[in-house]
Amino acid sequence: MKKNLKYYLNKALNQHFALGAFNICNLENFQAVLEASIIANSPVIVAISESSMQYMGEDFIKSIIQVAKKKNPALFFNLDHGKSFEICKKAIDLGFDSVMIDGSLLSLKDNIALTKKVVKYAHKRKVLVEGEIGQIKGTEDKICAKDQLYTRAIDASIFVKQTEVDLLAVSIGTAHGANKYTKKAQLRFDILSEIEKELPNTPLVLHGASTVDKSYINLMKKYGGKINGKGLDKQLIVKAVKNHNIVKVNTDTDIRLVSTASLRKILSEKPDIFDPRIIFGYYKKNLIKYLTNKIQNVLFSDNKI
Ligand SMILES: [Zn+2]
Repeated sequence: MKKNLKYYLNKALNQHFALGAFNICNLENFQAVLEASIIANSPVIVAISESSMQYMGEDFIKSIIQVAKKKNPALFFNLDHGKSFEICKKAIDLGFDSVMIDGSLLSLKDNIALTKKVVKYAHKRKVLVEGEIGQIKGTEDKICAKDQLYTRAIDASIFVKQTEVDLLAVSIGTAHGANKYTKKAQLRFDILSEIEKELPNTPLVLHGASTVDKSYINLMKKYGGKINGKGLDKQLIVKAVKNHNIVKVNTDTDIRLVSTASLRKILSEKPDIFDPRIIFGYYKKNLIKYLTNKIQNVLFSDNKI
């Protein structure tokens, strides 16, 4: 069997590990994700949102897809939170392996209609599609949902059967952004189990799965950053991966946090340095460390190529 994204999602479903979907918006982030995937010998998904697509430019993205395929054929590209058919089509035409169509703010009926249209275009080109049902709280780029709306198993079942999506993003208590929770975060494993009963073979996706480590929040604050954050307990992600059908875990906030905290530190501690390669090289090094650790100790996708 061809070792494409579908192959690794099925392998993850059978062996209970998850592929990290790590958001990138520049060269250093991309290099860090690539490097971590090689160090850990892991299949990994590079996630690019609509606004990051605009920021980096289509030609740049096209060229890094080529680089990725040469260096690690198990590095895949996913459009994160595509809001329209047009943006999904653009990503598919650029060579992405999968697209997420996020119609979660629409009615179930309209979400199904939009998702179906994307699936039709994508599947013809052997590209996978991720849909979302329920609403994940918080803000990520321009995606914003004020309240948590948990995924209903019955809706998930109707949605997957009618649209034939390859992956389903579920809302079970995670949130987007740095300040995820006022209280201790809980994931609704009961809802996850209900969804799995309806859809035992559907690969599920956990969004908003940054842990927002205290050490990086403290580093930000120490060097003048203004941030308050609370993330998801690492053990909850481990449980979702080990005991359930979560095979794709999205991480954006942590990547921003590690990058910015590291930049603040080096710029403050070494005011005489003005070589960007040293400054960005330092944050890249920290990011590689963070990502490799997440792959090995939270997602368990190391040595799965
Ligand atoms: Zn998300």
